[in-house]
Amino acid sequence: MGVLAATAIMTGCGSEPPPVVKVDAKADAAAKLKATKEAKVRNAAKVRANELGQIPVLMFHRVVPTPQTTDDRTPKQFRADLERLAKENYVPITAAEMVTGKIDIPAGKHPVVLTFDDSSPSQLTLNAVGVPQKDTAVAIMREVAAKYPGWRPKATFFVTRDLFGKHTREEQAQALLWLKDNGFEVANHTRDHLNLRSLTQEQVEEQIGSIGKTIDSLSYTKPVTISLPYGAQPRKKDWALRGKAYRHKGAFLAGYTPAPAPFSKSFDPAGIPRIKVMEKKGDCAQFCSEAWLDWLKKNPDMRYTSDGDVNTVAYPKFKAPYLRKTFTSLSLPY
Ligand SMILES: [Zn+2]
Repeated sequence: MGVLAATAIMTGCGSEPPPVVKVDAKADAAAKLKATKEAKVRNAAKVRANELGQIPVLMFHRVVPTPQTTDDRTPKQFRADLERLAKENYVPITAAEMVTGKIDIPAGKHPVVLTFDDSSPSQLTLNAVGVPQKDTAVAIMREVAAKYPGWRPKATFFVTRDLFGKHTREEQAQALLWLKDNGFEVANHTRDHLNLRSLTQEQVEEQIGSIGKTIDSLSYTKPVTISLPYGAQPRKKDWALRGKAYRHKGAFLAGYTPAPAPFSKSFDPAGIPRIKVMEKKGDCAQFCSEAWLDWLKKNPDMRYTSDGDVNTVAYPKFKAPYLRKTFTSLSLPY
């Protein structure tokens, strides 16, 4: 109090506004900040936010009326896959948003990452005026978004040289630009879909770098993420993340569990697990999407739940040891 008074007197005769106001404003701001933080903590606790919880990253391939392999989904199955997610309060984010920690979804909701490998025409085919053809993956995603408020058509397309079956540069550019303009992520799945495990570093960089360059030249986008063909990491896993011509923030595998949150110590950007989309049967009795979504539903404390604030990492206090140190400044334990 004495300091404030002295400061006020010393500058009292000047034309400047007295600094007392400034000091009060500072105290006000600090009090406001504290109140805001307390409100954030209350909100996080109310929705039982857990931003160190697990995120299902679903792996799709083709969406076709007559499945050839267990990787394919029919349009009807795919619609049901999305509707289950929407009803269970999941909201799609892209793979790039996940790995960079920009998980901007409403409070109480759970992120899900929808990924599509191999750039097949069944995922995206546009008609002559640029409208997605009925029963393609993008058309179904948009239908479901129209039906369920809060759901949004967002996904990541890991592309190879097949580029949705388009052969001219113009058509390839149309496809990639359409995805980009409509909020989808275009990412890397290597040029020729070889098993990277058996390649030299130079060959790995060529496989990844060349399709990255194609994507950039067609759509002015440098891929932020990659999915590894067959889920196979190169001999040194970091080769998938960094090469002379590319920098990826995350490399995705092919199986078999939900993924750790990017804020969690268990997160490894060079090997992020995904989940095959299939019912609980045969090889999928335990480790595919139906089984894992059932498990996450039964174990809400293990699942990522957002506090609705993209600038904080909120979690129950006793999970604190799992927070990655780099996110300490954003942490909001409750
Ligand atoms: Zn593939």
